[in-house]
Amino acid sequence: MNDNYEEINLEPLFNRLGESKFRSRFKLGKKERQYLEEKGWAEIERHAFDFVRQRLGPAEPGNDGKQTPMRNHPVFIAQHATGTCCRKCLEKWHRIEKGKELTEEQVNYIVAVLRYWLKRAMLPTIEQEN
Ligand SMILES: [Zn+2]
Repeated sequence: MNDNYEEINLEPLFNRLGESKFRSRFKLGKKERQYLEEKGWAEIERHAFDFVRQRLGPAEPGNDGKQTPMRNHPVFIAQHATGTCCRKCLEKWHRIEKGKELTEEQVNYIVAVLRYWLKRAMLPTIEQEN
């Protein structure tokens, strides 16, 4: 296995996500960017693991479909942007079967997707620099 799999294997997924008007309208706001900068990547990644395990991990998560707020944490926004917000979206976008507890491997994959999206979202763009 190529341990650089994030870069290689996530590209097709991100191309598909980019074609979805709904998914691509999610962007980090100023507050979320600041929050991420203050906390740092290790902390944000810990939050991502917690959210994924608690809100998506069980076979039948509570409030499924509505468990991920639309704002207030960069990871929530990344979840909507990447189709990792609920078990229905996980099945649709990532072929992770509903009704089964997430495996550790699946949790790691989801966090890798979130990290990848967040890293890209934090790249400076021309508009943000103006
Ligand atoms: Zn969803």
